[in-house]
Amino acid sequence: MDFNLTPEEAAFRDEVRAFLDENLDAAESERDMNWFGGWLKKVREKRWVGFSWPKEVGGGGGTVMQQVILKEEMAKRKAPPLGSCYMGLAWVGPSIIQYGNEEQKQKYIPDILDGTYQWCTGYSEPDSGSDLASLKCRCERDGDEYVVNGQKIWTSIAMISKMMILLVRTQTDVDVKHDGITCLLVEMDSPGIEVRPIKNMSGGAMFAEVFLTDVRVPVENRLGAEGGGWKVTVSALANERSSIAEVYGLTRKMEELKDLARDTERAGQRAIDIPSIRRRLQRAEIRIESMRLNGQRFLTKQLKGEPLGSETSINKLHRASLEVEMGELAMEITGSASTLMQGCDEAPEDGRWAKFALGWPEVVIGGGTPNIQKNIISERILGLPKD
Ligand SMILES: Cc1cc2nc3c(=O)[nH]c(=O)nc-3n(C[C@H](O)[C@H](O)[C@H](O)COP(=O)(O)OP(=O)(O)OC[C@H]3O[C@@H](n4cnc5c(N)ncnc54)[C@H](O)[C@@H]3O)c2cc1C
Repeated sequence: MDFNLTPEEAAFRDEVRAFLDENLDAAESERDMNWFGGWLKKVREKRWVGFSWPKEVGGGGGTVMQQVILKEEMAKRKAPPLGSCYMGLAWVGPSIIQYGNEEQKQKYIPDILDGTYQWCTGYSEPDSGSDLASLKCRCERDGDEYVVNGQKIWTSIAMISKMMILLVRTQTDVDVKHDGITCLLVEMDSPGIEVRPIKNMSGGAMFAEVFLTDVRVPVENRLGAEGGGWKVTVSALANERSSIAEVYGLTRKMEELKDLARDTERAGQRAIDIPSIRRRLQRAEIRIESMRLNGQRFLTKQLKGEPLGSETSINKLHRASLEVEMGELAMEITGSASTLMQGCDEAPEDGRWAKFALGWPEVVIGGGTPNIQKNIISERILGLPKD
């Protein structure tokens, strides 16, 4: 396909560049919450939050190509994110737009766009992670309500979320385990929900176990059909994987790594001038470029109106290994100080890189492990026998 920009697309790119010139008016280190609040307000006014969502629900109605332009320009300039409700924008909102009824769209989508509160994702259970369809969280109907009993685990940001997209089992006597699963939109302050934070290896506690005991959820909070939750999840997971598989976050991180290598002195020379570090930076950059080109294959598919499918697993797999590689590279650049965490006087950039190097599980394991991505690629793309 022809990736040259049409005159309209070039005009949009110029509009984005002009906006960034005008509004990225503070250095990264000077951007406080106030500045970020102002930024969010301006990008919301431009309708760049939920840019590809239909205008009827408050999105920007942007084309796939415009979205690529917007994200590329933002990544190049290391701009802050568009919007603050990460899961809401990446997969909960798209699922509500696709499977929700009118009331659900009106109730939840504006708050997701405004970042009024956070959503969390209640899929994984102690015995159901990779094999998600084996989930057991029980759910029985009682009049106009569902009653939920069970446990979820690894629920990111559960402790600061107002809402959860939750998968439960409404039917147990099914021939295929993917049937009988239902998707609910649950208020986290419902009686019977207990959130117990889990500490991760970088010292933070950004995920949690969630216990549900006789939690009552109105039937109107069901997303999609009863027993049809797997369909909702498949598209939500494709969106989750494609958001992880995107190249823009890596492009930005690469620019930051190069700045770090320029600003760090090792044995009397700039780290960026050390051949072994230069080689690793080049290798990472080449891999990011190959991911970008691979992403254009999905783009071609999307432009032809075909839905995103298993192909996102290819870039998800690359992103996973690159995330680890870039974390190790940051440690090599910063040398012996690299393991110092936030709060240590000697920690480079207040421990930011040590935290990054330990943060890989979110990208590597979240959204499905590398083994699972390899299974998807081999079975669904290469047509190899089933695992
Ligand atoms: C930082 C982080 C954030 C997360 N956030 C969330 C969240 O917000 N909500 C949520 O619901 N979940 C979340 N998760 C959970 C995540 O989705 C699961 O951890 C993941 O799907 C793996 O499941 P598991 O931990 O049960 O491991 P298991 O499924 O038990 O896997 C263990 C190992 O076996 C391998 N394996 C399993 N099955 C196969 C197979 N068929 N073929 C080959 N190898 C296989 C896996 O690759 C892995 O190496 C998060 C996880 C992390 C690390």
